[in-house]
Amino acid sequence: MPYLERDPLRGIWVITSPERKRRPHEDRDKGFVCPFCPGNEHMTPPEIYRVPGGKDGWVVRVVPNRYPITDVHEVIVDSPDHDADLDTMDERHVNVLVEVWRERLEALRNNAYVLLFRNYGHGAGASIMHPHTQIVALDVVPDVALRESANLREHDCVLCSMYGRKAFISGGYVINVPEVQTVPYEVWIHPLSHRRHFSPSPPFGRLLSATVRALKREFNVRDYNLVLHQAPEGYDYHWHVEILPRMGRFAGFELGTGMRVVHYDPEEFAWKFTDIIATYVKGST
Ligand SMILES: [Zn+2]
Ligand SMILES: [Zn+2]
Ligand SMILES: [Zn+2]
Repeated sequence: MPYLERDPLRGIWVITSPERKRRPHEDRDKGFVCPFCPGNEHMTPPEIYRVPGGKDGWVVRVVPNRYPITDVHEVIVDSPDHDADLDTMDERHVNVLVEVWRERLEALRNNAYVLLFRNYGHGAGASIMHPHTQIVALDVVPDVALRESANLREHDCVLCSMYGRKAFISGGYVINVPEVQTVPYEVWIHPLSHRRHFSPSPPFGRLLSATVRALKREFNVRDYNLVLHQAPEGYDYHWHVEILPRMGRFAGFELGTGMRVVHYDPEEFAWKFTDIIATYVKGST
């Protein structure tokens, strides 16, 4: 069973979960069979939830992670299509998917904290390319959430004040290129109004899909992480999705200081991105 402890010197939370080592890896394992593809449903633990439909009987499935980080670790199989990603799924499907995100986050809300994230590409830590989202429940509120909450208080909120270099606003949502980008080509998506808990409405799926499409096509992003931050119970917050492209690795300096180095011009990116994102949202690209 995984267990949690805090490193006494640096204050870093560490979860020890030896199980994780046994994870299958699409590129490294000989004779790899994808447990998330239709026809292989028996390879996952018993299903928690599904959205029925399509020729395979389901369009989204939710199962427990066989190699969990914590006791509550769910995998959402985003689509029956092994090669899909948020940028290639049709808009209706993305909206169905984000509604499943909302439902699972809601169902797990009695935990101290719940993180929803996606790893896309091996450079982002994905061991299986089949598109999937993960949700991990924690017994503690991570330091990132505590720090963000302090800056996301209603009436004094970084996102309400539209902190960013440039932003694109559509259908009650903001695609925001932050002033300080912690990784190259970082982009946030959040509601225009101050909402604590993830509450997507249809334009959100379109904006999410368009953002990923633009990053891949215009900026050569191959691997990325997506994290969804919402309020831990009892805290103020402004929910947001952070899209974090992984153009390089974190090395000694980053590990030794907790700081980040980006080697490109964030201002130039902000201008170019906000210039082209409208055409992607409209669906003409
Ligand atoms: Zn697959
Ligand atoms: Zn706010
Ligand atoms: Zn955040």
